[in-house]
Amino acid sequence: MPRPLVATVDLHAMRSNLALARARAPGLRTWAVVKANAYGHGLVNAVRAFAGSDGLALIEFDGAVQLRELGWQRPLLLLEGAFDADDVELAARHDLTLVVHCDEQVRMIETARLARPIDLQLKMNTGMNRLGFRPAAVRAAFDRLRASPNTGAISFITHYANAELYEHPTPMPPQTQAERFRAAVADLPGEASIANSAAGLLHDPVPGDWIRPGIILYGGSPGEGSGERFGLLPAMTLASRIIGVQEIAAGESVGYGSRFTARRPMRIGVVACGYADGYPRSAPDGTPVLVDGTRVALAGRVSMDMITVDLSAAPAAGVGSEVVLWGRGLSIDEVAQASGTIGYELMCALAPRVRMQVQEQVQ
Ligand SMILES: *Cc1c(COP(=O)(O)O)cnc(C)c1O
Repeated sequence: MPRPLVATVDLHAMRSNLALARARAPGLRTWAVVKANAYGHGLVNAVRAFAGSDGLALIEFDGAVQLRELGWQRPLLLLEGAFDADDVELAARHDLTLVVHCDEQVRMIETARLARPIDLQLKMNTGMNRLGFRPAAVRAAFDRLRASPNTGAISFITHYANAELYEHPTPMPPQTQAERFRAAVADLPGEASIANSAAGLLHDPVPGDWIRPGIILYGGSPGEGSGERFGLLPAMTLASRIIGVQEIAAGESVGYGSRFTARRPMRIGVVACGYADGYPRSAPDGTPVLVDGTRVALAGRVSMDMITVDLSAAPAAGVGSEVVLWGRGLSIDEVAQASGTIGYELMCALAPRVRMQVQEQVQ
């Protein structure tokens, strides 16, 4: 029998989340973001679920080539652009759109010998101070790219540092970044791509010509609270079973470091899922876990292949009982928050050893 740990990817949920993202930004086109193996959900699944998207965006060139091989014919955007000159040639060969965020990348475009021009997205650093040209340098970069025979269409892209804080004070408000962006591209021709998930959900109206939703397509929240409060459906359910039970007396402790000590006699369920599967080792005692549909509490340190839970709230549970670590019935955002991280990290960290299963239909 295979290990009972399975990640079920729900294509219906992904389609529904994409529809919700698009409905929030009427008239705009959509780059569905599928970097990091579609946030852990698999490119093969993403290309099917997001067939209605105008383009797909990612970081990895091998992933982009795989998407072409899977039959994706619409635009593909490489969000960090080329890492070396070979990537520029690969982009021409597979008709990939490249972000250009620094002078070195402009140079790569200028010096390449390409059979056909490639579409480019000029990235502007409007305040996040990660990738991109400062607003004052955008015109010069644009002029250089425009002069190259390797350049097809040029559009403009920027990224918010605090998109989820639309109406809250922050050192770098999205409104400030939007103003800088608008001012810098005012007299330059080209489309604009600004909004990630948070901006697409929370900003009204959503700015730009294209949106770039990622996390919400998978049902995760881009900020506080859980994705469900926006009507998003969880795309990944990580489920397993109880593989052992220990009856322990008051004063006995559980697992490595004896972090959890029972204050009364209790049953401890041992679940086949640990940090080597992507469950966060930082999860404290009390982190919610569903056993046969009932919320129980993590009890004891997460180990490599197992977690242990207090079965007091589920007295009928035993070996073979169904366990949901996150997904349907238990928000990944809640598990992440308890563990001091975000749903993004949990999805992306799903380990390759976890079996993946695909669900097509509404259930
Ligand atoms: C990852 C990424 C996104 C998607 O962000 P979400 O918060 O998941 O919506 C959008 N734009 C860029 C440039 C990214 O790197």
